[in-house]
Amino acid sequence: MRVTVIGCWGGSPRPGGACSGYLLEYDGRCILLDCGAGVASAVQGVRPLERIDDVFVSHFHHDHVSDAGVMSYARLVHRQLGLTDRPLTFYAPGRDERGMGARDLAMRGASRSVEVGEGSRLDVGPFHLEFMRTRHPRLCLATRVSCDDGTTLGYTADGALTPELVRFLGGVDVLVSECSLYAGYDGASFGHMSCEDVAALGRGALPGTLVLSHLPIYGEVRGLLSEVGAALRDLPVRVVLAEDGAGPCRTCVDAGVA
Ligand SMILES: [Zn+2]
Repeated sequence: MRVTVIGCWGGSPRPGGACSGYLLEYDGRCILLDCGAGVASAVQGVRPLERIDDVFVSHFHHDHVSDAGVMSYARLVHRQLGLTDRPLTFYAPGRDERGMGARDLAMRGASRSVEVGEGSRLDVGPFHLEFMRTRHPRLCLATRVSCDDGTTLGYTADGALTPELVRFLGGVDVLVSECSLYAGYDGASFGHMSCEDVAALGRGALPGTLVLSHLPIYGEVRGLLSEVGAALRDLPVRVVLAEDGAGPCRTCVDAGVA
């Protein structure tokens, strides 16, 4: 399984970048994890929209879902042009605290939605997803993905560090973690993680590769890589800072390859 970072910014994209979006690919199939601001455009640098049929939405904050509507518009046009006959499918949580849920993503003639939740399992071609609710102000699901090639990926989505999250994501080949805050900030009270929390997650979950993403739109993000790298230097965990179209090269990791 290959994971490509489409967008790595939390809240709002930096110039040329995008908010949360991660494309998983294997054997010609793919699934997109989240579709925040800028993802519908940026993902086309990797794969045309008419060849992306499945999108998991972790929660209904704009930086994870704002491009869902325009992806449906694109699907409407692509179906009319005969480029694909398949609807786009969104997999998302049920109704949350603000009354938003999977059913709000479906658009007639373009897309449909499937509700997923903690404890449910989802099979999308070669990808098999499990979900865990995170500690976040709005109903949000982390996911653990196993692929038919035997590789695994964890995605924290948004949430504070908890022992349950560490257990749920333990031992994956690639762990894409939110890293919303610099050292010294109290991530837990915002339902997010600071780089110190991410280091603790890495120490507990011991992924092959830890990808720091959902990055702050202010400050020097390379400092996050130094902090987490130093905290985990005694462990066999490769730490990578996510880069998208705003960076010199897009981050792409093959799960299971050291
Ligand atoms: Zn977010």
